[in-house]
Amino acid sequence: MRLTVLGGAGGFPPAGGACSGYLVEHDGFRLLVDPGYAIVPRLFEIVAADAIDAVLVSHGHPDHVADLNPLLRARLMQDDEAPRLPAYAVPGALSLVLALDQISAMKEACEVREFSAGDAFAIGPFAIDSRLLPHSIPNAGLRISADGKSITYTGDSGPSDDLVELAAGTDLLLAEATYAESVPSGNATVLNSAAEVGRQAHRARTARLMLTHLLPGTDPEASIAAASRSFDDWIAVATPGTIIEL
Ligand SMILES: [Zn+2]
Repeated sequence: MRLTVLGGAGGFPPAGGACSGYLVEHDGFRLLVDPGYAIVPRLFEIVAADAIDAVLVSHGHPDHVADLNPLLRARLMQDDEAPRLPAYAVPGALSLVLALDQISAMKEACEVREFSAGDAFAIGPFAIDSRLLPHSIPNAGLRISADGKSITYTGDSGPSDDLVELAAGTDLLLAEATYAESVPSGNATVLNSAAEVGRQAHRARTARLMLTHLLPGTDPEASIAAASRSFDDWIAVATPGTIIEL
């Protein structure tokens, strides 16, 4: 299983950067996880639009879904029309981004396959497990497994024992860490810090921890330092172009 980071910024894309977006590949199957703002130009540096086999979305905030629109446009507007793109999401998560476009054929470009957070299901060669994690709108934490390896991804999530359970023993915890040390009180239950994510990774006994969704301005080195107080194994910050082979 191979993970390619397309973007790792939270909230909005900084200069030259992109929001949440991850290409997960196994056995020739290409799964795009969270097509957030500005990930499509980076994706197209790696693969063509019609090479994506499915999309999996954690929740409906635009920093996680906005670039579904240019991906579908590219699939519609290229010479050989691509097949309908299966897009897995919790109910309603894609309704706003799919309503963005006036092109009537867009409705046919995407096949929404809804799941409930808590469901387990398959996408191509991947086994998907999910949990409802605390956020301001319904957000599915996702554990993506193939061939005995797994990536657990939080989307956006406040601190949660459900995440520790979902991530137990995972090979890579890809965790939202919008802030380094602490989350401002208004968002303390719906977003996470690197310090807290480090504690959760330690409790879940994950093999590696990748911090992602850093708000532009959050210092990556300070974030790694904060997480490493509790988690003493491999830690990195998700940056576009990073590739992890599991
Ligand atoms: Zn969000």
